[in-house]
Amino acid sequence: MPISDSDVRWVKPPKMGLAERLYLPAIVEGLGTTIKHMFQPKVTQQFPEERPQLPPNYRGVHRLNRDEQGRVKCVACYMCSTACPARCIDIVAAPSPWPDREKYPELFVIDELRCIYCGMCEQACPCDAIELTSLFDLTGLSREEMMFDKEKLLSVFDQTVAAGTDPIRTRSGKLSVASEPAV
Ligand code: SF4
Ligand code: SF4
Repeated sequence: MPISDSDVRWVKPPKMGLAERLYLPAIVEGLGTTIKHMFQPKVTQQFPEERPQLPPNYRGVHRLNRDEQGRVKCVACYMCSTACPARCIDIVAAPSPWPDREKYPELFVIDELRCIYCGMCEQACPCDAIELTSLFDLTGLSREEMMFDKEKLLSVFDQTVAAGTDPIRTRSGKLSVASEPAV
């Protein structure tokens, strides 16, 4: 249906003075915003030139903790993989070569690309064997590289403890009841 002339409303452009035509109000307003931000607290962090200030509860790359004898602390109880909402932890348990636990993880892999860094695995672990660290600049050239196996997760432990960035949060320093042989 054609539009009648009475339905058409013509809009006239506003008349601009000399200042508007030279963009002076817009320039002054823009300068005002710039000057205001110069005196406000700075929130932009200059990464990678400067290390960002992470909150104390930051959850980054995982690590598998070692016990006092340097062994992997994990007892292969599967609590972390059961709790993981992203289903990105694969564990293969095997009989432990040590007498103080029944099982240990023969294979322990976390898909760091699939992980959502929720921290549920750390919460679920009964013996503080898995922790999320402050490592955040995780890069890799292939998917395989981002599958962190036991050795890599233990090396993250060594690296973060040596750097002093992530103190061990282990509470008791002992294996928990989850490691005790079933009767
Ligand atoms: S941080 Fe969350 S998503 Fe990542 S492995 Fe742990 S439980 Fe799974
Ligand atoms: S919950 Fe802890 S002890 Fe159990 S399998 Fe996971 S990391 Fe190992």
